[in-house]
Amino acid sequence: MQLIFEKSRPGRNGIKLPEIDVPIVSDMPAKYCRKHPASLPEVSELDVVRHFTNLSRLNFSVDTNFYPLGSCTMKYNPKFTEKVAAMEGFSDVHPLLPQLSGGGMLAQGSLEVLYNTERLLSEITGMSAFTTQPLAGAHGELTGVMLISAYHKNNGECRKHVIIPDSAHGTNPASAAIAGYKVVVIPTDKDGFLDMQAYKKALNQETAAVMLTCPDTLGLFNPKIKEIADLAHGVGALMYYDGANLNAILGKCRPGDIGFDVIHLNLHKTFATPHGGGGPGAGPVGVCEKLVDFLPISRVIRRADGTFALDYHKHKSIGYIASFYGNFGVILKAYAYILSLGRSGLIEASENAVLSANYCLGRLKDYYVPAYGKSCMHECVLSAEKQLEQGVHALDIAKYLIDKGFHPPTIYFPMIVKEAMMIEPTETESKETLDAFIEVMIEAAVLAKANPEVLHQAPLSMPIKRLDETKAAREPNLRWQPK
Ligand SMILES: *Cc1c(COP(=O)(O)O)cnc(C)c1O
Repeated sequence: MQLIFEKSRPGRNGIKLPEIDVPIVSDMPAKYCRKHPASLPEVSELDVVRHFTNLSRLNFSVDTNFYPLGSCTMKYNPKFTEKVAAMEGFSDVHPLLPQLSGGGMLAQGSLEVLYNTERLLSEITGMSAFTTQPLAGAHGELTGVMLISAYHKNNGECRKHVIIPDSAHGTNPASAAIAGYKVVVIPTDKDGFLDMQAYKKALNQETAAVMLTCPDTLGLFNPKIKEIADLAHGVGALMYYDGANLNAILGKCRPGDIGFDVIHLNLHKTFATPHGGGGPGAGPVGVCEKLVDFLPISRVIRRADGTFALDYHKHKSIGYIASFYGNFGVILKAYAYILSLGRSGLIEASENAVLSANYCLGRLKDYYVPAYGKSCMHECVLSAEKQLEQGVHALDIAKYLIDKGFHPPTIYFPMIVKEAMMIEPTETESKETLDAFIEVMIEAAVLAKANPEVLHQAPLSMPIKRLDETKAAREPNLRWQPK
């Protein structure tokens, strides 16, 4: 197809525009060509800049405010990783560059990043191998359960169900179900842990896997985790580790050493790459030795001469789970983050995440009821059940926090905690920020007794008052109307 250039372009509403070169395709059949130029909006640069700048100011982000959204790990993402990801050698690489021949050497650095990231994640978690392909945590879960399914089928077994505790993130049962398994839900006991009686009863030769989060969504580390794993292995089931909370145990313990067979990580949580609003994320999956052959293709390999290549010839592989090589930019940022912190830095990050959460728990436990236990890992779950006696819900407290410049914690999750408020401060917040947040939480508890109406009316500082959330979900009005 040959491109020729047209010399002038009539503007919208007959306004004459300066002459510019507009490519048109000469051999396009006439019936497909426009008779008149498309009426495209013409907006000045200033109007565009104002539009997007104002939109960005409506956004609530980690860069602007404290964001203790439990389970989501909204930590600050150091800006240097953005610089690394923007380096031309990485950002200009095309996924179809040949790997080795000719210009193919251009992709060697990127392949090395993928290879090294897989090795680092294996070391950090105690797994044999990783794939960086899955595009989010939930995608990693699905990939992981598919690997488990492939493993059992390869052994000539057709197992029927996956065991999951009732405190689990909703994506766990969803992933198991999409991969074709029945989900068996195990209740939580009075201490906040997997009910061992119910677990032992559910476990049998039809169990394909036990999916656990540890520390779990209650912010607790189950001391019986090894026993749970041994019991599962005893009936030939595999152990799946939801690693979304790995930021609590970096360098302290490794899921692979405990006996987990498959694990996913959320690079956009534990390893500080931006997320929220739907991504992009990355959910690499790690496996123990006996599952390596089933990993998705392509696999990055290092050849004897030290060069890197993509290997597609894996006959036991579950196949493709993503186009090309995962969310490369996210993987790259996580790689830069891991290398910059190093072993001692990662350990310190986890210690500070746990310290921050316990500080919040310690200072708030006289005002709100802790869900379980006296201490927590990287997040704490409080209940607003005392406030409910005054007619104040967790939702009212959340809305009040918005007025005071804080993103609310996660509320009503885990679903097994009445009026749950799940606070995850992360390691990147200063004591001053934590104190300011805690003061507002205490203020809300005092108001719940003295003047609950204030909480019912919050937020007052927003352009829109309390939303009808059902209506907002069913009839979304996505047009932004400037005041
Ligand atoms: C965030 C999260 C997930 C899902 O991860 P996404 O990247 O959001 O798909 C799964 N499990 C737990 C415990 C999580 O916190």
